[in-house]
Amino acid sequence: MAKILVVDDEKSIRTLVSKIVSKDGHEVLEAENGVHACEYFQNENIDLIITDLVMPEQNGIEMILELKKTHPDVKVIAISGDSGFSGQIDLLSMAKLLGAKHIIKKPFTVDQIREAVDDVLEN
Ligand SMILES: [Mg+2]
Repeated sequence: MAKILVVDDEKSIRTLVSKIVSKDGHEVLEAENGVHACEYFQNENIDLIITDLVMPEQNGIEMILELKKTHPDVKVIAISGDSGFSGQIDLLSMAKLLGAKHIIKKPFTVDQIREAVDDVLEN
């Protein structure tokens, strides 16, 4: 079983994702923005990060960039809604370019989360 960090500024979504992965037996930590997520990441042995992209303080893209500096192999699943545009490139595509293993558009299904987690942890 893995230790998974769930990052989202919306508590309801954070709780939902946490429930989905903890039901599968994984240990879960939660953070509400990139700053707190990076702190957790430096202090805990995190196997996988499931992160929202649009968040205050530090967004998911900035967080991925920061983590990649010290941990180039960090495993990330990015989740975001349609509204996450920055210029012409949507944020999910940007996350994929930055190395996110899976990108999932909100609203997501339980199975989408479970399948992405299983796939990332197996590979
Ligand atoms: Mg958000």
